[in-house]
Amino acid sequence: MSNYAATHIRSLADRDAFWRERASLIDWQTPFSQVLDYSRPPFARWFVGGRSNLCHNAIDRHLATRGDQAALIFISSETDARKSYTYRELSAEVNRFAAILRSLGVARGDRVLIYMPMIPEAVFAMLATVRIGAIHSVVFGGFASASLATRIDDAKPKVMVTADAGMRAGKAIAYKHLVDEALRLAAHPPKKVIIVDRKLVPGTDRVAGRDLDYVAIAAEHEGATVPCEWLESSEASYILYTSGTTGHPKGVQRDTGGYAVALTASMRDIFCVAPGETMFTTSDIGWVVGHSYIVYAPLLNGSTTIMYEGLPIRPDPGVWWKIVADHRVKTMFSSPTAIRVLKKQDPGFMRKHDVSSLRYLFLAGEPLDEPTSRWVSDALGVPVVDNYWQTETGWPILSAQPGIEDTPRKVGSPSFPVCGYDVKLLHEATGAEVGADEKGVLMIEPPLPPGCMTTVWGDDRRFVDTYFSTFPGRMAYSTFDWATRDRDGYYFVLGRTDDVINVAGHRLGTREIEEAVQAHPGIAEVAVVGVADALKGQIPIAFAVAKDASAVAGAAGAARMSREVMDTVDRELGAIARPAAVHFVGLLPKTRSGKLLRRSIQALAEGRDPGDLTTIEDPAALDQIRQALTS
Ligand code: AMP
Repeated sequence: MSNYAATHIRSLADRDAFWRERASLIDWQTPFSQVLDYSRPPFARWFVGGRSNLCHNAIDRHLATRGDQAALIFISSETDARKSYTYRELSAEVNRFAAILRSLGVARGDRVLIYMPMIPEAVFAMLATVRIGAIHSVVFGGFASASLATRIDDAKPKVMVTADAGMRAGKAIAYKHLVDEALRLAAHPPKKVIIVDRKLVPGTDRVAGRDLDYVAIAAEHEGATVPCEWLESSEASYILYTSGTTGHPKGVQRDTGGYAVALTASMRDIFCVAPGETMFTTSDIGWVVGHSYIVYAPLLNGSTTIMYEGLPIRPDPGVWWKIVADHRVKTMFSSPTAIRVLKKQDPGFMRKHDVSSLRYLFLAGEPLDEPTSRWVSDALGVPVVDNYWQTETGWPILSAQPGIEDTPRKVGSPSFPVCGYDVKLLHEATGAEVGADEKGVLMIEPPLPPGCMTTVWGDDRRFVDTYFSTFPGRMAYSTFDWATRDRDGYYFVLGRTDDVINVAGHRLGTREIEEAVQAHPGIAEVAVVGVADALKGQIPIAFAVAKDASAVAGAAGAARMSREVMDTVDRELGAIARPAAVHFVGLLPKTRSGKLLRRSIQALAEGRDPGDLTTIEDPAALDQIRQALTS
């Protein structure tokens, strides 16, 4: 039996021993008394009684041996800034930020909402929050006021941290007015807002008594040190919102000890980055990949992390490879969409830089197509490791694990279950395990391993009902993805079972976009579907029924309304969710019980057969979709 197979079996059969060994990779202020408490399924408590702190493990414990080593290297091709922080310098920044938060009354268990561009202060804020035992909720800077307000009302933060602006493709994107609007819309706005003024937009107004300038308040806490708050392993470290099938995003809650152990072990077992080596993850701190592999895992491991603000093609398409060359990056982690963007550029840009330090390129977030995988692997001369996971799990579910065994990879497959995950493919109707090459729903037999979500913030019931109720009578975690497994045990992920779409590696709920479209007063009804796209994987397309048909009767009227709908989505959710096209129809295809036939609409939009239509109420609705697509 291969080393991987034997280790995977042991990780499930002798769970305690497996995780006890990995738990020794981090510091515990008080040792745990039990590896796993699973007395209240599906709620798993890992490392029961152990007290630790994420910030201590990410910074303090490295100071004696790595104080002068780079911890965080910040590079912005937008503002042409670069700054490197050693572990000692990062410690000073984080302690000072922790002192600021404490001075504003933030205590253990309180929430801090971070709505920031990719700048080092965002990392200071995250680490400072967990240092004092508070809980951060980072909201992606591309989300609009209404989305931000929903998340504020769910997390009820005491303090918010933001900046005057982000920057994209050389253009400043002002944040402050979005924040002001979100705070106006929110029922539970925070009392204090810390603003990092990058001076990217002129005259950012301040609300007296609420808004605080970061530089000014930081000066008051220069040199401050703040002790770590020791948390019981299951106490929450952060909340990260993710889209699902309802319009209301779910707050994925993460623990402290389990997350620290799982991530640190993943650096050795999966990502093959040793302490002292450099990892470059190109995501954003607003997403789970950014939380886990820009911020926490590299620092927990005593490695160096690179934080990059900017596009992969500015100032030229060699910018990432220059970073790899300059910083001798060992492991890079990116997304298939980013690589597809680079694939369209002159390959000469890649050859200009010495990328010989690279050992692996990990790609995740969306299906990886074969041409993209082959192109980048050939161009870089390193293996590409496709890995599959979700916001909920916090680290990979399926991946090759070269730190355990360098198993051969098959293009198009994220290889095998990661050690600790008991993955099952179940038949959608019968719930029985499917055979080789048969399609099933990708499920995880609980308990979920350390590092995975422990509940939905503030809503244990929703955690159970959403994730563990797919098959009646069988408590198994659903990923809501379809997959197959071939005869050699390799998995192939085929897409979502629910109404979630994946745009450039970002998850969006079609219901959420529909609600945003309906915020336009002229729209009666709408269906949003994800349609295959060569660059972004999928793009959202809307089919809408106008309240007043005459408003969209002519080409000019339809174009005007379509633009207005797109602007409404920008305002409600953010440009990331903007439909690529809005088509107007007289009615939408529904079942006789009134359920939207989304899959049929999607099939038509992708030029496929609409499938089983026995339940359709009015077949004319499909003709309208066909017509809209061709006009
Ligand atoms: P998110 O929680 O936003 O990271 O999105 C997770 C979803 O992205 C998964 O449920 C999958 O549908 C998709 N996904 C992530 N990684 C992969 C991958 N390597 N291959 C195929 N789909 C993926």
